[in-house]
Formats: sequence, C-alpha cells, structure tokens
Amino acid sequence: MNILEECSGAKRIGISGHVRPDGDAVGACLSLYLYLKKCLPGDPYIGVYLEEPAPQFNAIKGFDRIITDFPEEDPFDVYIVVDCSKDRTGDAEKYFDKAKKTINIDHHITNTGSAMINVMEPQSGSVCEVIYDLFDKDKIDADIAKALYIGIIHDTGVFQYSNTRPSTLTKAAHLISYGFDFPKIIEETFYQKTYVQSQITGRALVESIRFMNGKCAVSVIDRKTMDFYDADNKDLEGIINHLRRIKGVECAIFMYETGPLEYKVSLRTTEKVDATKVVTNFGGGGHARAAGCTMHGTFHDNVNNLSKYIAAQLGEE
Ligand code: 5GP
Ligand code: MN
Repeated sequence: MNILEECSGAKRIGISGHVRPDGDAVGACLSLYLYLKKCLPGDPYIGVYLEEPAPQFNAIKGFDRIITDFPEEDPFDVYIVVDCSKDRTGDAEKYFDKAKKTINIDHHITNTGSAMINVMEPQSGSVCEVIYDLFDKDKIDADIAKALYIGIIHDTGVFQYSNTRPSTLTKAAHLISYGFDFPKIIEETFYQKTYVQSQITGRALVESIRFMNGKCAVSVIDRKTMDFYDADNKDLEGIINHLRRIKGVECAIFMYETGPLEYKVSLRTTEKVDATKVVTNFGGGGHARAAGCTMHGTFHDNVNNLSKYIAAQLGEE
C-alpha cells in the first residue's frame, strides 16, 4: 500500500489507535500524522483521536494536537486505525464507520483486518515497524524518526522481547541516525516511574500470589487502592513486567478493577503458554507472549476461569 497515494486528494483525514494507548499506539498515530502533514499537498485537515496518553509521551511532536474527546465530526475522506482493529478504538469507531475510505494497519495476530485496506503484519514486533516500511525514507525527519522509535522500544521492551527481529534493529539503527536523544527517550518514556507509580507497583508485588506450583503469578489492584494512591490505569503500566520476571513463572497475570465486577486483565507468558489462546476465550486479543482482555466477575472467579486455559497448556491439573 502507498499511504500517500491512498490519502491523495483527501480533505479530511482521521487517525486513531486503541483505547488506553501505549507507546506503540501513540508513536504510530503521531508518526503518521507528522508524515502526512509533511508530505500531502494542499494542507488537508488531519485529526488524531485518541484517549489521553500517559504524559511522558509529550516527548513526541504533535502530542498536544491529540484530540482526547470525541466530538461530532463531518465524515472523513480517509480514516486510519493503527495498532488494533476498529472495535478497540473506543468512541472513534463512529468516525471510522462513516468514513469514505478506511485503512487498518496492525501487528496483532488476533486482528484479521477491519478496514477496506488492511496491512496486517503479525510477525512485526510493533506497528511502528510496519509504518516505517510504508514511509518514503527520504521524507522521514528527526521528529518522525523519534515517534517511530518510541513505538518500537515500547512494544519490544527496548529490544528485549522475543518479538525483536534483526529487521527491528536495522530499522532502529536507521532511526537513531536522525540524531534525537535516544538514551533520554528510553529512560523517560519507558523506565522512569513517578513515586506513586513505584509505590503502587510495590504494593502489587507484595500482595502477589503464586499458584500452579509457582508457574503462575497474579496480582490485582482494586479501585480502593487506586483511589488511595490517586492513581489511574496509566500508573499501572509496567507492574506486569515485574510479575513476569519472577523466576519460575511461565504465566504472569495482572488485573485492575475498572468498574463493579469488571477487570482489565494483562497476561505475559514464556514460550510454554500462548497468551492469545487464553484471552480469546474472554473476548480479548494480542500476541503470543503478551495479551489482554476485560473480564466480568470477582477477582477469584476470573483467576479460576483463566487458570483452566493456562493449566491446559502447562499440563497442570
Ligand atoms: P497489555 O497487557 O499491555 O494491556 O496488552 C498486551 C497486548 O495485548 C497489547 O498488544 C494489547 O494491544 C493487547 N490487548 C490488551 N487488551 C486487549 C483486549 O482487550 N483486546 C485485544 N484485542 N487486544 C488486547
Ligand atoms: Mn503495538
């Protein structure tokens, strides 16, 4: 697909990523925004509609242009959804549904394509790598490079996870040649945590439980605890990574309460457990090693229900 050709002549273009946007979703939306703004003639309207991202992503140019409420809009000529299918864009789905042309770019194995034009690359570690391939390299600049780089480091855990491929590093190598301060970007957008984020992480770890002979670790943060720390969902990112690192754990589970008897669930696994085979039973999706879903019921019921599908893969009773 040639993204500039597909957008040529369009007067109104919209871009969205998934709800609770992570670094890859924000980097993908803003890199596309910056690239299209720079390359399309005639100065078309380009809107990025996303739930409010975590504040550290203001390192990306265009962050302050993100529209976080979803007002009524005239129909778009082209609507582009990245890093998910249209049904995970929250209130932006209405724009997509009314758009004259729709494009979906993703790397989630559970996304089979939800647009008129679909670019699905499940072997890609991040959607920013897929988008990199769509860009004319002569037209990338330092701001676009930084946006793509942030997406790549977030979805590959700074090139640590098994979704990192030789081509991931080749692309990242080219991107850092634009000269932005990448050590600062890695530290400030990926590793650095506020004091409250660190405290709530500590709390989740102290209260974590291991089961299935130490092969699973689970922790939960309820509404009351979030209120106590004045924390929101953006403050909980990264907790799952600590659970995943516990020696012997093949499947880490983290959940936080989003409403009465409603939990957002994250899974991280070793090669012994395919996380998508667990969460797709509950309407979720993602990748083999990292996936998520929303579950209804008590914390204990949810753990029991997940356990059935995890135990089946681990050969546990
Ligand atoms: P996280 O645990 O960090 O929220 O998500 C891990 C991976 O699974 C990400 O790639 C994310 O996009 C995907 N994911 C998380 N929750 C859901 C969900 O409810 N539905 C789908 N389709 N994917 C999800
Ligand atoms: Mn992604």
